[in-house]
Amino acid sequence: MTGDILVHDALVLPVDGENRLFESGTVRIEDGRIAEVRPTEAGDRDADADVVIDGEGSLAMPGLVNAHTHLELTPLLGAFSDLGLLELMGSMTALYAQIADGEFDYLVEAGYDLAALNFLVGGVTTVNSMDIDPQAGAETFGEAGLRGFFGPAVTDLFWDVPVDEQFDRARAFIDEYHDTYDGRIRATICPHDDWSCSRDLWERISALAAEYPDLLVHTHLLELDESDTMARANGADDSLTLLDEVGLLDDRLVAAHFRVADEADIERTAAAGASVAHCPSVFAYWNPGPEMQWTPVPELRAAGVDVGLGIDDHYWHDSYSLFGEARQARLAANLKRTAGQYSSMELVRMLTVEGARALGVGDELGSLEPGKRADVVLLDIDAPKFTPMTNAPANVVNNAAPADVETVIVDGEMLLRDGEVRTLDADAIQRRAEQAVERFAAETDWDIDAGGSDPPGTRQVLRDLPKRGPVRLLGRLALQSVEDVFEY
Ligand SMILES: [Zn+2]
Repeated sequence: MTGDILVHDALVLPVDGENRLFESGTVRIEDGRIAEVRPTEAGDRDADADVVIDGEGSLAMPGLVNAHTHLELTPLLGAFSDLGLLELMGSMTALYAQIADGEFDYLVEAGYDLAALNFLVGGVTTVNSMDIDPQAGAETFGEAGLRGFFGPAVTDLFWDVPVDEQFDRARAFIDEYHDTYDGRIRATICPHDDWSCSRDLWERISALAAEYPDLLVHTHLLELDESDTMARANGADDSLTLLDEVGLLDDRLVAAHFRVADEADIERTAAAGASVAHCPSVFAYWNPGPEMQWTPVPELRAAGVDVGLGIDDHYWHDSYSLFGEARQARLAANLKRTAGQYSSMELVRMLTVEGARALGVGDELGSLEPGKRADVVLLDIDAPKFTPMTNAPANVVNNAAPADVETVIVDGEMLLRDGEVRTLDADAIQRRAEQAVERFAAETDWDIDAGGSDPPGTRQVLRDLPKRGPVRLLGRLALQSVEDVFEY
């Protein structure tokens, strides 16, 4: 039974339509929903709620939404940190292929536990995760009291797993997990991306999406320069045209990246009501080339596209901090252009309510407004780093870190209170993650310890890479590039 909670005398950032801020505010939660947000009144201090929290020295805001991520390799944080581009891509592709073949399930399960724990203590209350085999993720996040959108990735030119088998897995996952754990866990349909899927696969995805009309379609879109090349190999002018032709360019589409989008792409996305998950750290980390175009987020937002922030593969760039993605979004945009690409409040909105809107749940989540589900985070701002507390939105996006989160409430349930996790066994999860990585290092040619990480040599990686898929993928891209040249 969800008890009533009242937080008083907090600095409250409700992220509502007017971007209000209450310097001494009260948030009242009833039956799992926000009942009231207003200035604190004297009677609040001895209100008769089940739990009364003195919010003096705390900042209350909505739970953070990680709008695009992959969780199963979480225990390998630190393993990829020092690799060059080819080493990183090769070893990662080989690992994904091995997981798709059913290997390393102990690592994947430990990964979901560790991800749930770290995101919970860091104030992330909702994740949108695309993985290979997400059952353990749905169960771990569901049991932890968190929210999660999960879907198994489907691709025919990246792995060698038969496509029929991938669709069977996707359907079985949806049937078992969609809308479970009081609606906190939802299934998604996940064509992996627009550079490793054939038209035939997109058409099958479209048929699946028609079968399950209330599911999001979550993909990587306009991520690489190869995105539109593959679309042409698939008989369309560009990626969005291909999606439109198969019937997937609509308001169910959540597209991670959108980095190489042009003006026409932005207009079409806005008109379709599709949304974007911007993941700045991962691209800033592995930068595919010095002339890299940067994601046109200000233009997307100006056109009315909902843009959330995603931490993506956090084990590439060694961070569990979604606050850090807001900071990185600003730094990367300003580096490419000039200062002033975002206001701090816009970044706070992308961390919360716009992330929720991008996932189609903006009416239910993402802000502290009466009637919405009570997903609330309290930050400890009685600290030197937050003194004096001027410009709270700037402090949230530039200065806050997961360690500042002291309390997390989801659906009116207290999951973390005064830094103590209530719904997960933190010690057991940490031991399990350590054991999983020890076993992984013993079973493979990866050398991972406190001193660093050494991936297997090139020959081993080449042996572990999937054979059929990538060869067809590279063949198609090469052929299309030649055709593009001669057509011109
Ligand atoms: Zn991704």
